Amino acid sequence: MEQELERPAWLEIKMKALAKNYKFIRSKLNKKTKIAAVVKADAYGHGAVKIAKKLVCLGTEYLCVGSPEEGIELRNAGLEVPILVLAEVLPAQYQSILAGDLIQTAASRETLFALNKFAAKNNKKIKIHLKCDTGMGRIGFLPEELFEVYKLALSLDNLKLEGIFSHLARADETEKEFSNKQLARFDCALNKIKKSNFKLPLIHIANSAAVIDLKATYLDLVRPGIILYGLLPSAELKEESFLEPILEFKTKIVQLRELPPASTISYGSTYKTEASEKLAVLPIGYKDGYPRLLSNQGEVLIRGQRAPIRGKVCMGQTIVSVEEIENAAIGDEVVLIGKQGTAEITAAEIAKLASTISYEIVCNLDRNLKKIYL
Ligand code: PLP
Repeated sequence: MEQELERPAWLEIKMKALAKNYKFIRSKLNKKTKIAAVVKADAYGHGAVKIAKKLVCLGTEYLCVGSPEEGIELRNAGLEVPILVLAEVLPAQYQSILAGDLIQTAASRETLFALNKFAAKNNKKIKIHLKCDTGMGRIGFLPEELFEVYKLALSLDNLKLEGIFSHLARADETEKEFSNKQLARFDCALNKIKKSNFKLPLIHIANSAAVIDLKATYLDLVRPGIILYGLLPSAELKEESFLEPILEFKTKIVQLRELPPASTISYGSTYKTEASEKLAVLPIGYKDGYPRLLSNQGEVLIRGQRAPIRGKVCMGQTIVSVEEIENAAIGDEVVLIGKQGTAEITAAEIAKLASTISYEIVCNLDRNLKKIYL
């Protein structure tokens, strides 16, 4: 245990930056729009309990999680705000919904009936938000069936219908045609309910990208995730210099060597030194969530300078060149994601090299990495 705590690989999470990002989101919204902060997947790898507690202190009214189990983790940590489970669930998970007094997404008639039956058996009510599929094509009722489903949900005595929501599939593009179509479909389905003199519950559709530049989506709630963590939903959305990445991933040099010309490095010998080359070994690898696709491509920061990765990233070790870095020493701090001096390596830079999105980079960071909240 002690050894694990001493392991020279850790995440630093800047709570002041989280507060700044949160306040920036709040500043964009109308007064009546509430924030439902998305902390699923262990708050995108940042540690759900600590992040959620801070967000609640900052004033977030709701939390969104990816499963009832994630909701229970937050309840066990003493969080009392409403928690919405954003995904469909199986009957084995219903007990957790009740135990955690969670709000469950209902995206099929089968789920509505089954949740109602389960709640009735336990003499309880389960709160639900209906999911409307306006174009995401993942889960949800089609707009044309929403009115009937809404009436059905109201008729089920052990369900408490508190919300209706949808999810945008392409809000992270600068072109908003598809998002506007989704909004129009959602609006049309909701209008049918309104016109029939039914009262609408809480309505929401916005994710981070929509918070950034789709004002029409600021309804009763918004559900930002990635921008809370200071990352942009996509490279296309350039704005938002106000956002500050809250996570840094760091390690230390554990070994230094100088290898002669024509030495091959790491598995598969994919890198060969041209001249003699000074190399540093870092005690992190793909098991820590550092993508193997960074092999021979990525860079790290040492003494404020970029040091290129040599050869394949291994399971728990990575080799970088320190040929250009004066006085590199064993024990030097190495930044894998974050800033050092004026240099910076962003999750977006790594994501691009690894052919993915920043979301995946931070979500995949090993949960066992020590987290230091600053
Ligand atoms: N709403 C739903 C239904 C989601 O699945 C997610 C995340 O995947 C979000 C909101 C938050 O998305 P983002 O992190 O892009 O803000």
